[in-house]
Amino acid sequence: MSGHVNRGHSFVVFVVLIGVGLVTLLGYYFGYVPYLQAGSTSTQKTTLLMDTVVDIRVDGRNPEVLIENVFDTVEDLEGMLSRFIADSEISEINRRAGQWVKVSPLTLEVIELGLELGALTGGAFDITIGAVLDLWGFGSGEYYVPTEEELQSVLATVDYRNVEVDKGKSQVRIPRGTVLDLGGIAKGHIVDQGIQILRNARVERAFINAGGDISAIGRRQDNQAWRVGVQDPENPSEIRFILPLDDQSVVTSGDYQRFFTYEDVRYHHIIDPRTGYPARGVTSVTIVGDNSATCDALSTAVFVLGWKEGRELVERVPDVEAIIVSSTDVWISPGLAKVVTR
Ligand code: AMP
Ligand code: MG
Repeated sequence: MSGHVNRGHSFVVFVVLIGVGLVTLLGYYFGYVPYLQAGSTSTQKTTLLMDTVVDIRVDGRNPEVLIENVFDTVEDLEGMLSRFIADSEISEINRRAGQWVKVSPLTLEVIELGLELGALTGGAFDITIGAVLDLWGFGSGEYYVPTEEELQSVLATVDYRNVEVDKGKSQVRIPRGTVLDLGGIAKGHIVDQGIQILRNARVERAFINAGGDISAIGRRQDNQAWRVGVQDPENPSEIRFILPLDDQSVVTSGDYQRFFTYEDVRYHHIIDPRTGYPARGVTSVTIVGDNSATCDALSTAVFVLGWKEGRELVERVPDVEAIIVSSTDVWISPGLAKVVTR
């Protein structure tokens, strides 16, 4: 998905959650058959939301009701945060660029987090990137390779520091011509809200997989960490790494997730705000951390910053781990290197 909350023409991300199947297989292998505790059940459901496949598994009481609650919340939040839904709050901010627009506290929160990530990443992550994405046709799907002049002219609308937030009145103002796009962070934030609903209901074991933005509560039935497969960017139907997930989130940004090809060059959806071109240098970035919104934004930012600066960012931010893949190399942060299977 992308523009995470974009609609249409997305390449569905196949980061695969291997949990249940593996438990069962290994369980039988070791002579241990997984069982459910009396009074609790496990339910897994999949739906299409935010232009991607959303898969939820909940173990515990009333899983069906909880899962429906989460799906409803995801739909509501998408309706607020997608710039491709005409009556969303983000669409209103964009339509009324130049004026103050009242928004809900949640929308304000996502925008503020986006701006914080902008500052943290020196502008590699920039939620005002919308006009550049539109020029390339990401969003409409009518792809186009712009001229340098066209790029320079829309780049003038890109600067997260020009977004004004008035917390007291819960309102936001962007400059005229600027287009807000929360595609690099909204999906993560929405997954966090879903996880919060499940935690509030005291669910001890669950996961949400929204097109590769994966968050888990607790551990698997056999008390092992969940296991998540990370796609090979060169060959996205293959799994390249398997990593454990223990009450954490994992998000991957890749150049294979949404792109078009023109004259043998691949143009993908992660834009370097310094140039207006799709970021070159790495092919996928996976971030593991405590919350999905931050992992989501960081995966995009590290992708933009590339091999060296991206790695420096990961090393600088506490409590996040990463896998950075380029066409010739792989870097796995020390905390993750010990536990990743290749
Ligand atoms: P992700 O797949 O999480 O890396 O997010 C990619 C999406 O983030 C794109 O589809 C755009 O909606 C948005 N995006 C692209 N480039 C940037 C950027 N430099 N900063 C913030 N958001 C971006
Ligand atoms: Mg992201």
